[in-house]
Amino acid sequence: MGGLTSALALAREGFKDINVYETASNLGFVGAGIQLAPNMARILDHLGVWEPIAKEATNIRETSIRQGATDQELAHVELDYIEKTYGYPHMVGHRASLAGSLYDGCKREESIKFHFSTSVEGIESFFPKPKFIAKPRDGEPYTVEADVLLASDGIKSKIRVAMLKLLNVDAEVQDTNQAAYRIMIHRDEVKDDPELLQLIDSDRVVRWIGPKRHIIAYPVSNKTIYNLSTTQPDDRFAAAPSATYTTKGSKSAMLDVFGDFCPMVKRMLDKVPEGEVCEWKLRVHSPLPTWVHGTTALVGDACHPTLPHLAQGAAQAIEDAAVIAVALSRLPDTSPESINKALRVYEQVRKGRAEALVEMAAASGRALHLGEGAAKEERDKKFAALKGGKGPVPDKWADADVQRLIYGFDCTQVTRDSFDEIFKSLSPAQSVL
Ligand SMILES: Cc1cc2nc3c(=O)[nH]c(=O)nc-3n(C[C@H](O)[C@H](O)[C@H](O)COP(=O)(O)OP(=O)(O)OC[C@H]3O[C@@H](n4cnc5c(N)ncnc54)[C@H](O)[C@@H]3O)c2cc1C
Repeated sequence: MGGLTSALALAREGFKDINVYETASNLGFVGAGIQLAPNMARILDHLGVWEPIAKEATNIRETSIRQGATDQELAHVELDYIEKTYGYPHMVGHRASLAGSLYDGCKREESIKFHFSTSVEGIESFFPKPKFIAKPRDGEPYTVEADVLLASDGIKSKIRVAMLKLLNVDAEVQDTNQAAYRIMIHRDEVKDDPELLQLIDSDRVVRWIGPKRHIIAYPVSNKTIYNLSTTQPDDRFAAAPSATYTTKGSKSAMLDVFGDFCPMVKRMLDKVPEGEVCEWKLRVHSPLPTWVHGTTALVGDACHPTLPHLAQGAAQAIEDAAVIAVALSRLPDTSPESINKALRVYEQVRKGRAEALVEMAAASGRALHLGEGAAKEERDKKFAALKGGKGPVPDKWADADVQRLIYGFDCTQVTRDSFDEIFKSLSPAQSVL
C-alpha cells in the first residue's frame, strides 16, 4: 500500500523516474477485506483511484458490538454522520480492489516502472545518493543508485534493520502475543442460512468480543463476500522464528479458540474449507528514533507497524506516501541536503500522529479483550451508556472523538501549509554533515 501510493503520488506531483522493486512476482493479493476509512479515501480520491474501489465497497452505516458468547448487542453506533462530517463515508472493501486500483493508477503513469520478482537486498549507501543491491529472482544482482529511496518494505523491512544498525539503535520487532485468522465466506455458501444472509446484506461492521479474543466482520465485493478477521492469543507462533508471520492453521484449533462463541459465529467459522485456514502473527515495533537517514525514508509498516484494532495500518501507510510526495514536490532545489530536509518534514508531520494511533490501536484491543472483573464492568457500562447516545466508545474506531482526530486531519493540506516553516527550521542532519 505504501509503495504503490508513494509511486502514484510522486508521479502525480510530476516526478519523472520512479522505480518500484517488489519481491513478489505480482501483487499476489491476500484474500482479505480492509476498512477504507475517510482519511484513506480522501487521498485515494485526489490520486484518481477511489472511484473503482468505492464502487465495489460497502458503505458502512452502523456498527454493532456484541458479546461473542451470546450474540447479545452491547452497543450500536450509527455512522451515517461520517460522510457528512468528513466528506467521505466509512467503507469496507477487498484488499485486491484497493491494491488493484492503485496499481492501475500507477500503470497509467509513464514515469513509473515496476520491477517484480526483484528483492532489495543490502543497502550500500544512505547519502548523498542511496545505493542498494537489487536481486532479480532469476538473474544477477545489480546496484541501483537513486536520488531518494522510500523503503515501504513492510514490517520485516531490511532497510529499517540496516538503518538502525548503522545508527547503533537498539529497537526491535515486538511480539504482541496476538494472532489473526482471515476468512472470506462467499454468498453462495450462506444462501440457505437466513441469519448469515442478513449479515452479508447489511451495511454493518459487527464485532463479537470475548476475553482475549474478538472477531470483526463485514460484507465486501458488492456484498458477494462476508469478510471475517479474528484476533486471539498467539499459541502457535510463540516458539516460531521471528521471520515467521503466517502459517497454515488447523480448522479444529480455530473452532476451539472460538468454541464458546454463539452458534451463528461457529457456523460461519465452520464454512472455512479444511486446509484453507491461515493464521497471521501480529507483531509491532518499538518506536524508532528516526524514520529518515540521509536521502532514505521508511514508509508504512516498515516504520510504524500496528495492531489492526483501529483499522488504520494501510491508511497510515497511504498518509505517509501522500505527505512524502507533497514534501518532495516543494523542494527548493534537488541537492541531497534539501532532499534530506524534505524527508524530515515528512517525518515531523507524520511520526507523532502515526505512533499515537499505534498506541490507540493497542489500547482498543486491551479494552475489547478484557476478561471478567472491574475493568470489564466499567467498559460494559460505557457500551450501555451509548444506548442513550452518550459517552466514549471503547471500540475506538467507532468513537466520534477518535474519528475527529483521525479523519479530520488532512495530511496533504497540513504538509502544504507547514512545509516552508518546518523546512526552514531544520538544520542539516548529522547524517548529511
Ligand atoms: C489482520 C489484519 C487486518 C488489517 N486490517 C486493516 C484495515 O482494516 N485497515 C487498514 O488500513 N489496515 C489494516 N491492516 C494493516 C495493513 O494491512 C498494513 O498496515 C499495510 O498492509 C501496510 O502496508 P505497507 O505498504 O507498509 O506494507 P506491506 O503491505 O507489508 O507491503 C510491503 C511490500 O514490500 C514487499 N517487500 C518486502 N521486502 C522487500 C524487499 N526486500 N524487496 C522488495 N520488496 C519487498 C512485500 O512483498 C510487500 O509487497 C490490517 C493488518 C492485519 C494483519
